[in-house]
Amino acid sequence: MSKSHDDRCVLVTGAGRGIGRAIALAFADAGARVGALDQDADSAAETAALAESRGTAAVAVGADVSDYPRMEDALAKVVDTLGPVDILINNAGISPKQDGVRVPFTELDPAEWTEVVAVNLTGCFNAARIVAPGMVERRRGAIVNMSSVAGKAYLDVIGAHYSATKAALIGFTRHLAGELGPHGITVNAIAPGRIDSPMGRMVGPEVNEAIRRATPLGRFGEGADVANVALFLTAPETGFVTGQTIDVAGGWMMT
Ligand code: NAP
Repeated sequence: MSKSHDDRCVLVTGAGRGIGRAIALAFADAGARVGALDQDADSAAETAALAESRGTAAVAVGADVSDYPRMEDALAKVVDTLGPVDILINNAGISPKQDGVRVPFTELDPAEWTEVVAVNLTGCFNAARIVAPGMVERRRGAIVNMSSVAGKAYLDVIGAHYSATKAALIGFTRHLAGELGPHGITVNAIAPGRIDSPMGRMVGPEVNEAIRRATPLGRFGEGADVANVALFLTAPETGFVTGQTIDVAGGWMMT
């Protein structure tokens, strides 16, 4: 039986756990070949093994998304093993906290600011910059950038660096959609609300409970909730959608 993403190769960054792993496995179930990239090579290997166990080809690559030369090597390995990348899911991201709470802006370490920008924003640039030329050549491709509702609205549990990078990704998404659209490539973003993942659990239970109460659907999202929207945004049938940022937040914030 044919599946929605048969004959396509997806690269998922930050695929070792959380939302990234859920996306990698959802694409495996949808028939795609899966490149699982994470800075933790062992967790990327676990994700790739899980994808293979679902009957698809997969490869794991260990790389820090903020390291451009290392990303070039990593993506070359994916292409050598699985063929050209048709779909890029720019998912890797960090949200540093101290004891589960954000550091006040007036105490924010400049080095931490630089690191968050390097991973959350430059990391997405790096992967897109490396895969886009091949997509342009083949006139086929889809990119999804992982933003956040924190990129659209003020959230008092989130640091300024995180909010700034997630807002920047929305602009980056729109720009790439405009520039790459004439080459047959779609570029969209997802803005998750509170998703149950290791990152989501970094804040204290009382904070998360307040978020759950403020979420009309009354629960946290699962990785699969985000993965299903990533599948939607990259399916051939929805290829007329580009430049959009879709909230996956159960109604939280309604940004
Ligand atoms: P997570 O549980 O922390 O998982 C993130 C994954 O990315 C980890 O495997 C991590 O590796 C990897 N990673 C971190 N920095 C990396 C780097 N420099 N290079 C390569 N891989 C790196 O986070 P998540 O909740 O799944 O979040 C995934 C994305 O969704 C992020 O962009 C996040 O900002 C966004 N998001 C999450 C939520 C939420 O509530 N969970 C809400 C809005 C947006 P290690 O295991 O080695 O750290």
